Amino acid sequence: MALLPILEFPDPRLRTKAAPVDPAEVTTPGFQTLLDDMFQTMYDAPGIGLAASQVDVHKRFMVIDISEEKNLPQVFINPEITAHDGGQVYQEGCLSVPGIFADVTRADTITVRYLDRQGQSQELTTGGLLAVCIQHEMDHLEGKLFIDYLSPLKREMVRKKLAKQRKHVA
Ligand code: ZN
Repeated sequence: MALLPILEFPDPRLRTKAAPVDPAEVTTPGFQTLLDDMFQTMYDAPGIGLAASQVDVHKRFMVIDISEEKNLPQVFINPEITAHDGGQVYQEGCLSVPGIFADVTRADTITVRYLDRQGQSQELTTGGLLAVCIQHEMDHLEGKLFIDYLSPLKREMVRKKLAKQRKHVA
């Protein structure tokens, strides 16, 4: 397994719209290794979700684990939200926008159809943090970031703060 570099805002590659995964590809060793690498990268960061777009793979899938013990890995391939209900506000962060947190309003419960890592078709109805996380990661596949929900002024503040952080690290 290997740690993958995570793209960071404002990298333009984060704006790429991801293409569907060929279902025949899911069970190949190459794809399975990529999933393992993405889990390792996510746990190491640490984070609770990582979309392929964030590691410069522009295909429609993501890995998620919202458990405290980091022992409930979930893979969503070619996810599609088929139903949603209600609204919730959650303070989100993102491995591609380090150190920034902001309130975002999303659907409270969603039903999502997807392929699991065995390539089997699944349907899940869920709410709370997992619903937030799925919606956040699916945005990445569309080239969208959670800070896009902020006002242009706030987004500009985020960009400046990140530029300053990077300068400090360098
Ligand atoms: Zn993110």
